[in-house]
Amino acid sequence: MTNIDESLYIAISLDIDPDANSAVKGRHDALSPPIEHGEILIAACKKGLQKIFGLLEKYDIDATLFYEARTAQMLVSGGMDLPKLSERHEIACHSLKHEDFLGKVSGLPMDEKSIEKTISEAKDILEKIFERDTKGFRAPYTRINRSVVKVLERLGFQYDSSETVTLGNGWAGNPYPLEAFDSGLLELALPSFLDAKGKKMSSYLWAIFEDRRISSEYIDVVLQARDVANGGLFIFSIHPWHLYVDCLGNQFSNTQVGKNLESLESILSQLKHMGGIQITRQDRYLENWVK
Ligand SMILES: [Zn+2]
Repeated sequence: MTNIDESLYIAISLDIDPDANSAVKGRHDALSPPIEHGEILIAACKKGLQKIFGLLEKYDIDATLFYEARTAQMLVSGGMDLPKLSERHEIACHSLKHEDFLGKVSGLPMDEKSIEKTISEAKDILEKIFERDTKGFRAPYTRINRSVVKVLERLGFQYDSSETVTLGNGWAGNPYPLEAFDSGLLELALPSFLDAKGKKMSSYLWAIFEDRRISSEYIDVVLQARDVANGGLFIFSIHPWHLYVDCLGNQFSNTQVGKNLESLESILSQLKHMGGIQITRQDRYLENWVK
């Protein structure tokens, strides 16, 4: 990166967590459906992740990987060489077991001490697996509060990437301190925006896999963002499992999986060839921005 003001920066981020996971009443951690089984599944996550690694390699893209520590451990135990596959990418943290820190669904808000224990354990696990520092954090369900932010600060994280902010309305994709939580921790927020029909849209690609949007809508939005967010960072997010199962955990048909992969590849390939943008990792963008 030469001059940060010359282009729009794009980050491809993955939330690597259990298949179709959801928060459950009465417990802190997330489960895969059917929740009565009390289990998590990672078969779809594994397949999706393998495909995405292949595409990132093909298009020569460095991404930011938010690993749920439990999922990372299970993938490694299952024989996946995550450190090698993740070599070119940023390793960031997506909690220990996808905890519902705020207790919005579980009904059990976690106190600061247990949040600290959880995130600290997750960070240790990831740093042991990958033998690298983790600087970034994305909260499960993208929900943070003052306690989570304070814990991140204490544990030496450099940024959080959980908030969603509307692009354009005075925000051009730049990092900002989490003053609302009385903190100087920097936020690399996820963008939201309006589509051509004025309907709100997020940069999570799940809507494509659930057949609610098409890939060209996301490309249009990047073209818009290029005009209003010069020097800013536009973060895309993907759940690897979502290429293979829907948000209720039902397997997609082979045709749908093929379509999902095609859509994702089409977005990556178009971004790679688009003028006026640069694809980068979130940590690298931040490093350069701080300079
Ligand atoms: Zn997640």
